[in-house]
Amino acid sequence: MTSLPLADAARPRRFPRIRRRWGGPALVALAAAITVLTWATSRPMEPTAALLTVSQLFASLALVAFCLVFAISARSSLVDRVFGGLDKAYVWHKWLGIAALSAVLVHKMTAAPSDSEDARMLGNLAMFALLILTIVAMAARKMRHETWKLVHKLMAIPYAIGLFHYCSHSTYGAFALQPLSLWLGIVNVVGAVCAIYTLAGYRFLGFTRRVTVASVTPTARDTVELVLEPRTRRPPRIRPGQFVFVKGRIAGTRFPAHPFTVSAVGEGGIALSIKGQGRHTSVLVSKVRAGDVLRLSRGYGRFNPAAGGEHQVWVAGGIGIAPFRACARAGLAAGHQVDLFFAYDDPDTAPHLEEVSAWDSDSFRVHLVDRSRHGLLTATKMEEILSTPPQDIYFCGPPPMLHALRRGLPTTRLGRARLHFDEFSLGRPEPRPRTRQPRRRSRRKVAD
Ligand SMILES: Cc1cc2nc3c(=O)[nH]c(=O)nc-3n(C[C@H](O)[C@H](O)[C@H](O)COP(=O)(O)OP(=O)(O)OC[C@H]3O[C@@H](n4cnc5c(N)ncnc54)[C@H](O)[C@@H]3O)c2cc1C
Repeated sequence: MTSLPLADAARPRRFPRIRRRWGGPALVALAAAITVLTWATSRPMEPTAALLTVSQLFASLALVAFCLVFAISARSSLVDRVFGGLDKAYVWHKWLGIAALSAVLVHKMTAAPSDSEDARMLGNLAMFALLILTIVAMAARKMRHETWKLVHKLMAIPYAIGLFHYCSHSTYGAFALQPLSLWLGIVNVVGAVCAIYTLAGYRFLGFTRRVTVASVTPTARDTVELVLEPRTRRPPRIRPGQFVFVKGRIAGTRFPAHPFTVSAVGEGGIALSIKGQGRHTSVLVSKVRAGDVLRLSRGYGRFNPAAGGEHQVWVAGGIGIAPFRACARAGLAAGHQVDLFFAYDDPDTAPHLEEVSAWDSDSFRVHLVDRSRHGLLTATKMEEILSTPPQDIYFCGPPPMLHALRRGLPTTRLGRARLHFDEFSLGRPEPRPRTRQPRRRSRRKVAD
């Protein structure tokens, strides 16, 4: 590895410049603004205390938040576009769920004691069910993914009770001809349709693209490359950098939908590089055979180095090489210069290592960081190697590596580059780092 001085003497930043998309915040702000505006221009059906009208405002905001939560779960291409990627949308999904619950709690605390017994009972039922399910979902760091998903699906029950509670007891009249009622009418129909689609329709309609496994090639320890050929007339239209959900039956066992980034996009077909990291992927990696039939979702995500600046840095950790392989194979945009840092534990665990090494050229410089020989890749090491800071840094790798990079980048001159990455938790709380282990402590020391 070479060590060269940096040309740009720009001041280090405190935080990395993360590439933000404003579609999500704009949509949420717009929905909240319309709710407040329609509430302010509507009148309760009967003379009502001011506090109760405020309570109704919070109930309305909760319904709007729920509508957005279920709209994100429906995983339409519109959600992908507006939020700048489904992975980012799921972060909003989580926080909107928490916001909805908070609004419900404020609604409950400010509701008039004179409300009817039925209204109170329904409201309490929805609120407590929602509270319990949200606490379980947020605390579930070690819960099996299927159970975690079931907890989320069960949230449709308090939502349905809440809708009924609103339709039968709204102070503003659910079916009245006034702005708030009309707005919430639209919101509730959209929310209910999305909830039904998420629960009953998505598993069929979201996976209409059938593919055959054309070949299975081991590319590293516990890692295989699957080449998938379409069986349907409508081949999957997927861009390099995107991910798909894959499901099917492998050796007679159900493989539930999992996200994988495409590692090559070809004439009608795609390739996936999959590492056996857990219960299902381990079975897939050891049992999948050519000829197996799988089902694919549409392509999701906005990870797109082709749209970045002329000088880019790509940082891949282990199986995180997948999107960069797809992008490199698709070819660099004219005039683009790339420095690829490929970090892995040891050569046995590095997928596509030979292929990646062969990419090294004047416009595409490859820096291999073998942890068993060079230690962990840090922002400081990258700064030492790069002669000029890039405009954009694209990252794909394990979350601890991303966290270390996000901490380290602002302390270097690379901190001025825009940082792009996919959210790999899809809204799920990440397992807590095992801080008591000595290996973890030494890692942090190197990363800082
Ligand atoms: C956007 C994205 C792109 C990915 N790309 C790749 C790739 O190209 N190659 C690759 O090998 N891996 C990729 N993964 C990770 C891959 O999906 C995981 O290996 C997988 O989720 C672990 O599944 P498991 O059932 O074997 O593990 P488990 O031991 O059952 O679960 C471990 C953890 O994995 C997550 N997880 C499990 N099931 C799912 C699921 N159905 N959906 C989402 N998360 C789940 C949960 O956080 C869970 O706690 C990607 C993940 C995401 C979110």
